[in-house]
Amino acid sequence: MDILISNGIILPMNVEDGDDICFSGFAGIDGNRISFVSRSPEDAELFLEKHPDADRIDATGKIVMPGLINTHTHVAMALLRGVSDDVPLMEWLEQHIWPIEGKMGYQEVYDGARLGILEMLMGGTTTFVDMYPYEEAVAQAAESAGIRSVVSPCPMDFRMEHFENDWRQVQKRFKGSELVTMWMGPHSIYTLSGKNLQRSISLSEELGVGSHIHLSETQTEQDNSMAQHGMSPTEYLEKEGLFRTRTLAAHCVVMSDHDIEILAGNGVSVAHNPQSNMKLASGIAPVKKMLDAGINVSIGTDGASSNNDLDMWEEMRTASLLQKVSTLDPCAIPAYTALQMATINGAKAIGREGELGVIAAGALADVILVDIEKPHLYPHTNLISELVYSTHASDVDTVIVNGTIVVKNRKCLTMNAQEVCSTAQKHIDSLLNK
Ligand SMILES: [Zn+2]
Repeated sequence: MDILISNGIILPMNVEDGDDICFSGFAGIDGNRISFVSRSPEDAELFLEKHPDADRIDATGKIVMPGLINTHTHVAMALLRGVSDDVPLMEWLEQHIWPIEGKMGYQEVYDGARLGILEMLMGGTTTFVDMYPYEEAVAQAAESAGIRSVVSPCPMDFRMEHFENDWRQVQKRFKGSELVTMWMGPHSIYTLSGKNLQRSISLSEELGVGSHIHLSETQTEQDNSMAQHGMSPTEYLEKEGLFRTRTLAAHCVVMSDHDIEILAGNGVSVAHNPQSNMKLASGIAPVKKMLDAGINVSIGTDGASSNNDLDMWEEMRTASLLQKVSTLDPCAIPAYTALQMATINGAKAIGREGELGVIAAGALADVILVDIEKPHLYPHTNLISELVYSTHASDVDTVIVNGTIVVKNRKCLTMNAQEVCSTAQKHIDSLLNK
């Protein structure tokens, strides 16, 4: 179905400043791509002449912008939301999360992913980058819900056999999918031997796909790397050759100037996860420093059990506020930069620059409408500030992914919200032996 969006405030995200940052106008979607963006009603009329059956969306009082790109999550962990909070990272993982995950199979991951995907779609996220066991289940849930995903089957020393099966299944079932892309997800240097890391790197190279890894999340990871390898995690990964593949590194909290130089020099993108880093008391990533060094920094939520939601609006706001307070510089990460991190930088991180993260003719039609007729968004003086500092996920009204309307008037059209929530509740009750 072709779509004409009229009378909205278009925020294309492909201009730096000036009057074109946002403007009143029209956008047409032809199949899965945006065919025109214009201020002119004549262009809208021309579009309707060519596409008389187009679905018409009146975007009066709404901002029309690219869907948000969440570049680091474990979406199925939505199932584990709230099961363990307020403990340190390694204790959280080893004593709480991993034992429950050990009991989760394909169906639990599938239904957990559906819960997280429903939350993301309702909040305007149109693409997510995932890493988890059973990525085949995540990919299946994502494709049927109509959200775009980059799934990264995840090698870890204690489950290499499962990983080998998982990536083969994803490759087999989703090769050529318009919505699902597969990467490799070497979990971290502390869960992977050199041999298994090499297995992941050679698979990435053989299949021509990127690598998604946790990097320098905590001081403990840094200290252990120094003790074991005599170098930082970033230096170690450079030596091992990971950065020969397109790499998306999540966290990057404990970073020396040399580490930053290495990431910049190798074109590694970063997924900044401010709320997860705050909640697990991991520290504050030097985002301003990394951006100043030319690193492409995007935004992720991490899993819902260390956040505890998948709300990219909160994440943008936190990214900005956290840099301001940590650098004591109120100019750090201005609102528009935070928006870029959640849109075009996310697209660049997954190698889809120009295709995603923008509202432009020829780009893929991943478009959201944000309702700004709300008390907490009035008065309208600076729409960019409104979006970053005042908007909530619940202000997203309509979501289009790959040219298909998946959320309309705040109702998800591809999933039964009540059923998704009650199924998730049944699973967690059973996993916790309630
Ligand atoms: Zn993570």
